Amino acid sequence: IDKKQVNLESVISNAIETIQQTHEERIVKIERQGMKPDILIPLDEIRIEQVLINFLTNAIKYSPHNNQVIITTFVDEEAEEVRVNVTDFGIGIPDFKQDAVFKKFYRVEESSLQFQGMGIGLFICSEIIKQHHGTVGVSSVLGEGSTFYFTLPLN
Ligand code: ATP
Ligand code: MG
Repeated sequence: IDKKQVNLESVISNAIETIQQTHEERIVKIERQGMKPDILIPLDEIRIEQVLINFLTNAIKYSPHNNQVIITTFVDEEAEEVRVNVTDFGIGIPDFKQDAVFKKFYRVEESSLQFQGMGIGLFICSEIIKQHHGTVGVSSVLGEGSTFYFTLPLN
């Protein structure tokens, strides 16, 4: 990977712009909340944008009845990391399947009947974040929605 000191805020803006180009027809509503990480963070810009695009694409795909997607960012000075959450109000994921979604080719059965996919997007996200020494995760309530997140070390 090709790490440089990059403004994470601009990477997030680019990802939102890309997503809004390809999801015009869905009238996706994307909000920003939380502290703006307008600080420089060592990261591979293209790959982190890919992680955001994968999270956002999923958020849109798996919330057919609610277009709202919220991105929140937090800078944790003490833990020396930044955290980015992507929240949707879609179909959600059953508790006991939440750990599995980052595995290669894994798809939640119920959703795979309804939505097309390879089951590779989140695996790629997790590999990219691993290469940055960060973490990925999800918290979700079935039928209510999901929050996917990643963290990146500040230094
Ligand atoms: P693709 O490789 O095209 O991204 P995919 O979306 O099926 O296909 P992943 O992005 O890796 O693959 O996601 C894995 C599975 O996790 C999905 O098939 C779906 O079951 C579940 N999932 C992912 N994101 C969400 C979400 N935001 N809400 C509900 N389920 C989700
Ligand atoms: Mg996907």
